[in-house]
Amino acid sequence: MINGERTIQRPLRWGMIGGGRTGQVGYKHRTGALRDGTYQLVAGAFDLDAERGRDFGTNLGVSGERCYATYQALIAGETAREDGVDVVSIATPNFTHYEITKACLEAGIHVICEKPLFFTVAECDEIAALAASKNLIVGVTYGYTGHPLVRQMAAMVAKGMLGEIRIVDMQYTHGFNAGDDTDASEAQVWRTNPATAGATFVLGDIGTHLYYLSEVVLPELKVEKLLCDRKAFIPSRAPLEDHATVLMHYDNGARARIWVSSVNAGNMGSQRYRFVGAKASLEWSDSHPDQLIYEVQGEPCRILHRGMAYLEEDSLALDRMGALHTEGLGDSWSNIYLWIAEAIDAKMRGDEAFLSTHRYPDLKAGTEGVRWLENCVRSAEAGAAWVDFA
Ligand code: NAD
Repeated sequence: MINGERTIQRPLRWGMIGGGRTGQVGYKHRTGALRDGTYQLVAGAFDLDAERGRDFGTNLGVSGERCYATYQALIAGETAREDGVDVVSIATPNFTHYEITKACLEAGIHVICEKPLFFTVAECDEIAALAASKNLIVGVTYGYTGHPLVRQMAAMVAKGMLGEIRIVDMQYTHGFNAGDDTDASEAQVWRTNPATAGATFVLGDIGTHLYYLSEVVLPELKVEKLLCDRKAFIPSRAPLEDHATVLMHYDNGARARIWVSSVNAGNMGSQRYRFVGAKASLEWSDSHPDQLIYEVQGEPCRILHRGMAYLEEDSLALDRMGALHTEGLGDSWSNIYLWIAEAIDAKMRGDEAFLSTHRYPDLKAGTEGVRWLENCVRSAEAGAAWVDFA
């Protein structure tokens, strides 16, 4: 179980390129990286708008001199320092990934890059050679594959608990682009332009998550051939797609179907993975993220729960909350810590007006819990009698 204890020799000095105030994914990087103290955010070229990026970075606690106007300035500034960044995360639109990664590696900085990694396999191969020659790491943020139940699926497949894999059925869809792109956000505009998104829209945007996940769960299987049927239901997005179905044949004869779509109208986001073997199946869906359905042919269906001791060691090693709590509880704790920090800050500044409307679990909330307990005990000790709440 992960409990925040340090597992590396020292915290990494970390910088961000992109992921600024208006960026969609930047906060996911920061909450992921900063949670255990493994990374310390010390520098950034957060935004195309240099002034906004500087203002944002200093609000995050990065010193002004280390909030850079461009990624080139970040590389120059950080490599000139004794305490320069060890690693940067790249959370910029797709078309910039390759050039920024290359520049960072050439400067001796490890890289964590967003998906889809680059535009071509040739670029990936070139970067792999560069990283190897510099002895540097490149990581990719396929966020869902850190889930303990994904590791559980992989471990069960590896143990042969499903038998020979026959069918893979995966879905990642949402409906947020069901309408046209009039008034599209900055992030939607670059996603539907081949020059900035690359050769795909939803396949790269969400389909790559599924494909990597299938590789994590089924590392022994190799795709032999595939068929991709894609379409832009909103014509202005062509030649890129807002919907696609991919069929795949694996080297063991297994078949796969992958559905990705951003025009699944009314759908807030659905991920579903089903792996079917000759003996049994596993199914996970983000509508019940703590549960893994394990169905053995001819036996009652079982629901495996995240964090329970009967899971594989690989899965338990990734758990952060224990089975009693949902993983989302970590986000809730962060909010509570933030609210209390804001209250302390207001108290320090003497801002009683702020405090009069600010809501957080305060002393009164604690007191009411104690009062409720006193009433419960009074009732219980009276032989489970009704008592007036006092
Ligand atoms: P966005 O358009 O919302 O934000 C991009 C950010 O990068 C903005 O802050 C922008 O000012 C900044 N930026 C752009 N060019 C820059 C440059 N040259 N130097 C410095 N900053 C620059 O985009 P987004 O939705 O956050 O997506 C960013 C990347 O993250 C994309 O590759 C996308 O595919 C990926 N993404 C991944 C996930 C995931 O789950 N892993 C989720 C969303 C997005």
